[in-house]
This record gives sequence, structure tokens and C-alpha cells, in this order.
Amino acid sequence: MDIHLYNTATRSKELFAPLDPENVRMYVCGPTVYDRAHLGNARPVLVFDILYRLLKTQYPRVTYVRNFTDVDDKINARAAESGRSIGDITAETSQWFLDDMGAIGALEPDHMPRATAYIAEMVEMIEGLIEGGFAYAKEGHVLFRVREYDRYGKLSGRSVDDMIAGARVEVAPYKEDPMDFVLWKPSDAQTPGWDSPWGRGRPGWHIECSAMAKALLGDKFDIHGGGNDLMFPHHENEIAQSCCANGTDRMASVWMHNEMLQVEGKKMSKSLGNFFTVRDLLEQGVPGEVIRFVMLSTHYRKPMDWTEKKREEAMGHLSKYQTLQRQLLNEYPELKSKDNVVDSEVIEALASDLNTPLALTRLHKLAAEAMSPKQFGLQAASGFLASLEFLGFGKLNVQSMRTDRAIRSAIDTVSIVNGLVEKLSEARKAKDFGTADTIRDELVAAGLIIRTTKEGVDWQQGPNFDATKLEGL
Ligand code: AMP
Ligand code: ZN
Repeated sequence: MDIHLYNTATRSKELFAPLDPENVRMYVCGPTVYDRAHLGNARPVLVFDILYRLLKTQYPRVTYVRNFTDVDDKINARAAESGRSIGDITAETSQWFLDDMGAIGALEPDHMPRATAYIAEMVEMIEGLIEGGFAYAKEGHVLFRVREYDRYGKLSGRSVDDMIAGARVEVAPYKEDPMDFVLWKPSDAQTPGWDSPWGRGRPGWHIECSAMAKALLGDKFDIHGGGNDLMFPHHENEIAQSCCANGTDRMASVWMHNEMLQVEGKKMSKSLGNFFTVRDLLEQGVPGEVIRFVMLSTHYRKPMDWTEKKREEAMGHLSKYQTLQRQLLNEYPELKSKDNVVDSEVIEALASDLNTPLALTRLHKLAAEAMSPKQFGLQAASGFLASLEFLGFGKLNVQSMRTDRAIRSAIDTVSIVNGLVEKLSEARKAKDFGTADTIRDELVAAGLIIRTTKEGVDWQQGPNFDATKLEGL
């Protein structure tokens, strides 16, 4: 199936054509590890998780790289204020990140390089840039000469002069031009540092991604992703460094950026009190799948608003899906096989620039059909189960959800009735006719028509069916 993706670099939706169809290569900028991931950080993780899953359905091999930035002044500050070592902080917070992203159903990328393991590659790249005249060393710093790269600003569609006017570019005595950005900077005795041709120091942030992407994916690769706050300067700088160091016309063919997440219509901020981490939500009892579902219900190129209402709606949907999933697997053991095929309309929706809201709408329709295998056959049920799993909801375990019994929907009703009918059959088999009759009377009182035959117990909704009468049964 053709995949179309919106490419920030060309500002259009394009047919995806990998450089090497035998190995699709994708790089996504990962977290700076000094604290728990906030809810916004989960958005790119989920967006690119879906893309990874989609690509794997179409290509024999996909190599997905997402880094950990484990050298950064925020980390140094955290170490200084807590008295802990940098290594302890980054090891602990990297694991937190993996645990929290695992809880929201994200697959682990194939490579998760830590920046500090690639310092030699960064130094080598910087040396190449200096040799080529694209960078210069001064006072222990190395800077990239932005004016030497004439495509600078093309990704975000801005001219260098506009960028200078709009950005907080730092003027410094060691810079030839205020736009020039840092590739390497000196470290004092208290700050982590590595020996280099320019003295003891540490890399700038942007060079990390260029060096790790080159080491793991090569000079050119297919997709580069991240939040749209990274487009400038981070991604512009990555492109400038990589193209000048590697002598290439591009770093990645397709650049993808997710829009930002807000909470209740406002930018997340600690002072507004609407800032929370993924772990905060998990600890409040919000299942990871609910976070995933809410995130996927908005297209990645639209701002996403996290609201209580959406959380509740997602809970409602997922608890129904869970009931249905368990019921189907119980009643139709043949559906346990691995041959269930992901519904083609779900894939089609994702292949159209990751239209996750449409994929979820389709999942909902499949669920409705899967509820009535007698009418729709097991095809819908099979497609529902495979699609649920494919979208990352395969291991639903959302009992902690509060379900509003009064507005219990058709799916829940079916599962409750099925459960009661099963109990009725078991009582009959055990010749416990007292219990069988009690259950039967209750079902009939709720307006259900119960037929008991030699084969078992069958049921239908009667004209006076009243779901509320099932409550408490
Ligand atoms: P950081 O650790 O701040 O570099 O961010 C890691 C990733 O999360 C980057 O891809 C950011 O673009 C993304 N990100 C940060 N804040 C938000 C937000 N509020 N909404 C969506 N993505 C975000
Ligand atoms: Zn990056």
C-alpha cells in the first residue's frame, strides 16, 4: 500500500519512497534525561510509534533510532542541586522514560544511543567541518559558520536574517557572526568534559543527533522526526552540520513534526497547575492505554488538547473493547490464532499521513460489527482483534476504570447477558435447576427472550428489553 506523509521540508504530502526499500531508516529526537517525561513528551513517542508500526507492515526491515541526550546543562544543574552524580541521574531517568513509554504501549526503537557514547564520532564530525571551512575554533569553542551553508533555514522556510530578528541568538566574543551556533564548548573542572583537539570540553546539543544518526543510519536516511518546537534551531542545525560534514544534499528525505500538546486549552506550565508527567497520570490510576487512546484521537499535525472529558471518553471506549476482546476470545477459541489480519481500512487511514483519528473511528465500527458475529461473521471480529493489537491496545487491562452503569452501552450489555447465560448453562449442566431458574427469571424480567434447547441456551432481545434491569445482576 502506498504511504503518504507530510514533509515539513517541502510543505506537502508526498508519496513515501525509501532510499533502500530493504531497510527503511528513521531517526527521532529523544528526551534530555534529567526528570520524568511530561505528558507532552509522550506525543512524539506515540506518533512515531504508530509510524514505526505502519512501516513494519509494508517493509521487510525498519531501523528506528531514538537517542537519549545525557549531556546537557539542565542535567548538570540537576546534579549540582541534588548532590547526585550525573551518571546516576541519567541512568535513572532514562529507565523511567522507558518504563513510562512502555506503559503507554510504545515499542522500543531498534537503537537508543546515549550521546555520551558517541563523543568520538562528534569530535570527528566537528574536525571534518573545520577542515571544510564550515566551522572554526575560538577560545575553546567550536562554532558552525551558518553563512557558509546557503540552504540554512530552508526546512522552516525562513531566511537567515528573519531568524536573527526572531530568535534569541547569543552574541559572544568568540563568534564571528551572532547566528553561528556551538558545536563544542569548554568545560570547567566541575562540569563533565572530554579531551578534544580544542581542549577539555563537551558537545553542543545539535551535533549529537548528527553524529548518532550518521553512525547508526548513514549519511542519508528516510525519515527524521520530532516535535515542531525542534524545527528551528535544532533541526536546521542538524541539517547544516550533516550535509556539510557528509557532503550530501540532504540529511533525511522526509521531515515530520508533531504539533504541541496543551492541557485544558492552555500550554502546560508548572505555574498554571496544568503540568503533569506521564507517571502522575499512571499513579492516579489512568491506564496507559487511555493516555495512548487520547493522544491518537487527534491528528499529529493539529494541536492536541488533553482534557478530562477526553480521558473519560477514552476510558469508556477501551473498557468496552476490553470486554468485547475477552468475550470473543472466550467464545471463539479459533480467534486466538495469530492469523487475524489487521483491517485494511485501519492501515489505509494510517498510510494517509498517519490519520489516527480515522483509524480509531474504523476500530469503533469494527467493534460494533464484532459484537454480532452471527450477523457479520468472524471476519469483523478477527479484524477487530488484530487491529486493536496493532494499534497498541492488545493487552488491555483497564479494570480500574470507573464505568457509568446507567449509560452502559450495547457492548457491555451483550457481555453481561452472555456472562449470565453462561452461568445459566453451567447450572443446567450441573443439574442445579434452582439457580438456572433464578437466572432465567431475571433475564426474562429484563425483557430478554431465553430459549433452552439440547444444544444449549440461546437469547434474543425482546421488545420490552430494559438494560437498566440488568444492573446488579
Ligand atoms: P525535550 O526533552 O524537551 O527535548 O523533548 C523531547 C521531545 O518532546 C521533543 O520531540 C519535543 O519536541 C517533544 N515535546 C516537548 N514538549 C512537547 C509538547 N508540549 N507537546 C508535544 N511534544 C512536545
Ligand atoms: Zn535531534
